[in-house]
Amino acid sequence: MKCTICKTGHTHLGITTVTLQRDNTVVVIRDVPAEICEDCGEYYLSEPVARRVYADADESAHRHVEVEIQRYAA
Ligand SMILES: [Zn+2]
Repeated sequence: MKCTICKTGHTHLGITTVTLQRDNTVVVIRDVPAEICEDCGEYYLSEPVARRVYADADESAHRHVEVEIQRYAA
């Protein structure tokens, strides 16, 4: 698909690192499958992947950890 941020690049399936913040919790999730722009590096998560990483971030926030680094497991 065409990148909606830079409007010139195209995206390709790849692996990225997603960083999310929930209140005082920062969650870093590695190895997340995403469509990544070849030009600007913006990433786009599919609906189920996005749901999954947001749920993981919420779960970490509930445990009140400050920083957590996870690996995405499908
Ligand atoms: Zn782009």
